[in-house]
Amino acid sequence: MSSGNVIAALQVALPADRIRLGAEIGERHHTDWTRMDPQCPRALLLPRATEEVSTMLRICHAYGQPVVPQGGLTGLVGGAHPQAQEVALSLERMNAIGEVDCSGGTITVEAGAILENVQQAALAADFVCGLDIGARGSCTLGGNIATNAGGNHVVRYGMARDNVLGLEVVLADGSIVSSLNKMIKNNSGYDLKHLFIGSEGTLGVITRAVLKLHPQSRSTQCALLALPGLDAALQVLRQAKAHLGGGLSAFEVMWPSFYHFVTRLPGVDSPLSGDHGLYLLLEAQGSDEAQDAERFEQLLSGWLEQGLLEDAALAQSVEDRKRFWHLRDAVAEFPVFLPKRSTFDVSFPLDGMAQAIAQIEHKAEANWPGCTRLYFGHLGDNNLHIVIDVPGTQGAYAESIEELVYDCVGALQGAVSAEHGIGRKKRQHLGRSRSLEEITLMHTLKRALDPLGILNPGKVL
Ligand SMILES: Cc1cc2nc3c(=O)[nH]c(=O)nc-3n(C[C@H](O)[C@H](O)[C@H](O)COP(=O)(O)OP(=O)(O)OC[C@H]3O[C@@H](n4cnc5c(N)ncnc54)[C@H](O)[C@@H]3O)c2cc1C
Repeated sequence: MSSGNVIAALQVALPADRIRLGAEIGERHHTDWTRMDPQCPRALLLPRATEEVSTMLRICHAYGQPVVPQGGLTGLVGGAHPQAQEVALSLERMNAIGEVDCSGGTITVEAGAILENVQQAALAADFVCGLDIGARGSCTLGGNIATNAGGNHVVRYGMARDNVLGLEVVLADGSIVSSLNKMIKNNSGYDLKHLFIGSEGTLGVITRAVLKLHPQSRSTQCALLALPGLDAALQVLRQAKAHLGGGLSAFEVMWPSFYHFVTRLPGVDSPLSGDHGLYLLLEAQGSDEAQDAERFEQLLSGWLEQGLLEDAALAQSVEDRKRFWHLRDAVAEFPVFLPKRSTFDVSFPLDGMAQAIAQIEHKAEANWPGCTRLYFGHLGDNNLHIVIDVPGTQGAYAESIEELVYDCVGALQGAVSAEHGIGRKKRQHLGRSRSLEEITLMHTLKRALDPLGILNPGKVL
């Protein structure tokens, strides 16, 4: 069938308010957080139920019409970015938060639910949702699962993948695969949810999910630490994991260039004085305020004695803790202060991290003397964020900077995407982190689940 009639077929099959065309489509659906090349999609579909998603995909499949799934549009790699001939399918109206199962510790939600609302529902039932990212107020659970989102507390609760027990997905041809498992143990054949987690809307549209919830912690210990360098940080990480057990909840490392840059921004102060080799925001959670505080302070004293720390500021109040996190979260200001910067979300094996930074430092300085280089990341998860900005060049060297960083990632067996996914932006770099055999298998899976290639074409592969 020609794709010319697809809009008419959708209009016949669905209530009128499920389809928007032309100027009715809000500009926010033209691109994602990357703001890359905005394009008005051919149509915007707004289903209210899984069956409607199924009808939409069945019709699009019959007409060979490409479809771009959209969640909260906070993605940082252009995964939800539409082309003019594509149809955008937004899950935003499917945002119901269903049952919290207090005995099993699970919550069942629709894919368009905003992450922050899921977190609130979990808290109201005296649980914690393990997922937390900076975009919590706008991103959707479906988008989080489709990108296998990470965030600040991966070291304690794992990535999105580790928090999903069950999924309901609509395949490219409209078939509904409902696998809303609530059990931890279920080895009954292939665990199909893992195919869709992190598949960035290329293998199916996620419509509902069952998340594992965690007991609420009763105490939080937080400190901002100054260390001599990366070796010390790796020793501190090993000891923190051993002594705080599963309680270690954040291990955010900031290199001096980052620390000094953000503490010069308006409204961000430095709780530590002097110059140090590395800065660490450390957080631990537990169930007994007095005991946890004592153990945490003992650990810090031990590290000071071992020479692993040069200075420490311990949060004495919730305000202190917010102040420390404000420093780390100042990255949200980068678009204002470094509008033409190149940013990277990559991973390195921990034993290659120092070499990676040294290589990037050396090459960046050689190519663009005096350029801004900022490094920070969730070190406990191998994740390094890099910002490079060559002042006064309006981003003219963006491509060369990308080559420089991804060359280094490839050479040191790192990952070109740590947590944001591949989307459209990193597609040409996938081969630096995945072998030919891995990519061939990805294509085989894609062909099996979406033989016409209508789901999110031009993304990932
Ligand atoms: C300020 C800020 C902070 C961030 N911090 C983090 C962080 O700490 N860790 C992290 O991992 N990411 C982070 N991100 C990136 C982003 O928030 C995540 O990628 C998030 O998971 C995307 O969710 P979304 O609903 O906005 O998805 P969208 O941007 O709408 O879509 C992302 C991808 O998922 C697909 N998709 C969306 N919904 C569905 C669905 N229901 N079914 C199938 N596919 C779907 C889209 O096609 C696209 O490929 C941050 C972004 C911002 C702006």
